[in-house]
Amino acid sequence: MKKCLYCKKPLDDDCFSNKVGYFCSEDHFDKYLKSLSDEEYVEVQNSFCVCSDDD
Ligand SMILES: [Zn+2]
Repeated sequence: MKKCLYCKKPLDDDCFSNKVGYFCSEDHFDKYLKSLSDEEYVEVQNSFCVCSDDD
């Protein structure tokens, strides 16, 4: 089952999702990013970068 990465609440199909994972809303995605350490944050940012593949 999908769960919000921030609050761990079970989610429906119409939740907010992106490459990082699933969230209740964009707001919880935002809070999730702020809760990460610098190192984890960089990893998340890298997962968004589409240019890293065509090196
Ligand atoms: Zn949530």
